Amino acid sequence: MQTSVNYQPQYSQYEIKPIPVYPYSLNLYMNYPQEDIEINEFEIFGLDRLKLLKEIENHQIRSTVPLNENTKLLDVIKNNTYINLKENSSTYSSVKEKYEERRKDYLSHYILKLAYCQTEDLRDWFIKQECILFQIRWNNSSKSEKQGFVQSLNLNLENVSMKEKEKLRDKLETLISLKSNVKNGEELSRLFSNKNYFKINFEEVLDLVQSRSVLIKNGLAYVPDEEIISVIISKYKSFLTESMEYLSSIYNKLLKEDNDRLDPILKNIANQYIDEGYTAGNNGVINHQDIPNLTKYFPLCMQNLQKSLQMESHLRHGGRMQYGLFLKGIGVSLEESLLFWKKAFSKKFNDDQFQKGYAYNIRHSYGMEGKRTNYSPFSCSKIIMTNPPSTGDHHGCPFRHASTTVLEKMLYQTGINKNHVPEICSLAKLGHYQLACTKMLTIFTNANEEEVENVIHPNRYFDQSYPESEYNKNKKQSSNTMDTQKTVSMEF
Ligand code: SF4
Repeated sequence: MQTSVNYQPQYSQYEIKPIPVYPYSLNLYMNYPQEDIEINEFEIFGLDRLKLLKEIENHQIRSTVPLNENTKLLDVIKNNTYINLKENSSTYSSVKEKYEERRKDYLSHYILKLAYCQTEDLRDWFIKQECILFQIRWNNSSKSEKQGFVQSLNLNLENVSMKEKEKLRDKLETLISLKSNVKNGEELSRLFSNKNYFKINFEEVLDLVQSRSVLIKNGLAYVPDEEIISVIISKYKSFLTESMEYLSSIYNKLLKEDNDRLDPILKNIANQYIDEGYTAGNNGVINHQDIPNLTKYFPLCMQNLQKSLQMESHLRHGGRMQYGLFLKGIGVSLEESLLFWKKAFSKKFNDDQFQKGYAYNIRHSYGMEGKRTNYSPFSCSKIIMTNPPSTGDHHGCPFRHASTTVLEKMLYQTGINKNHVPEICSLAKLGHYQLACTKMLTIFTNANEEEVENVIHPNRYFDQSYPESEYNKNKKQSSNTMDTQKTVSMEF
């Protein structure tokens, strides 16, 4: 990809002939972009796509509804102002508008792909959200758009002949009946006749095999045309996985002389997501002696760090950073923080050793040393996606980094009703780490699901779970105000 400060698209050529570059709104982005882009556009496009994918994730965190039934998510994608797309049959005010819309979609995908290719967790996140985005767009596309797009993919699918289809009639009709709940013979026959089938290696459509939506014969899956989306998603996923690993390996070579300009932008885009800011609202209100008693209000990652600290009288750097910044966020001042860590390490380190080995880093994290950066507490995304714990480390997110057995044990130790443990563990196992954490918070606070905000930051978990937090005090105050207003208006 090139960058340029003199990018001048020649729209006139697109007024004359149809645009061959972006023929459909649906896209698997399999060809690398060849066009120039202004440096400021480069950043804006990347950030806009990130905002869209983030909205998708926020809706997905709470939802276990299948994608094709998730109307809220469809609304998010249809109404977003970051990267919007209309299909070919839609009305555009000009060809230029259509071109610009699709160009932004195309380039933004690649910019974010480049920003997110660097680590496995970042790649996984990007691929997951992009596949959801594609699937929702597919569900929302017209039949003609889908047909044209599938043809353009040249998937080389093997059609099942009429003769073979007829031979398999009984088995295929049974499957249709199971899926549609239609029992009437005539209706089943009509549905069967309207379907075309493709033969595909079963490994390419494992989700259809798992949901028993296809017939398997001699290692081949007989896939009806309306399920072809599974084949496309499977190919898309493999393509993204392979191409992002490749991009990661050639990252520096690819940026070449633009490295100085592009690398900071790409890093900033990736960090915008993982460094989701948290502004503490509880400044200096927690004393170091209070911390052990407050642990029950902490999310599991921080409960684990406190417990490990008590047991080992020490935490490695990753744990000290994650836990220290969290404590700062809940309202532990620098002075109290120094007292807390000194006391916690006292079984292994005397005062002199503590001052020499650890005090500087604590002051540094409060912005009192070195570059004087006032560091923010880590977000869930940062904890989940970066710096995974090694043996002997205790940082990280237990829902992401602990085995199911260890996670179960940790959950039992929190005193949570053990009936909920299997559900929380299975959410974590399915990769819904923050949903598992939100579930834990909902149970702990004895709240309704709608009352609890998704856990996207450990400190926001604490804000919601600790009754004395500024968050909860403000919440209580505003609900009291509403009650008062209600009373007044009723008196009138
Ligand atoms: S989801 Fe976030 S708050 Fe919850 S345990 Fe994981 S990192 Fe901590």
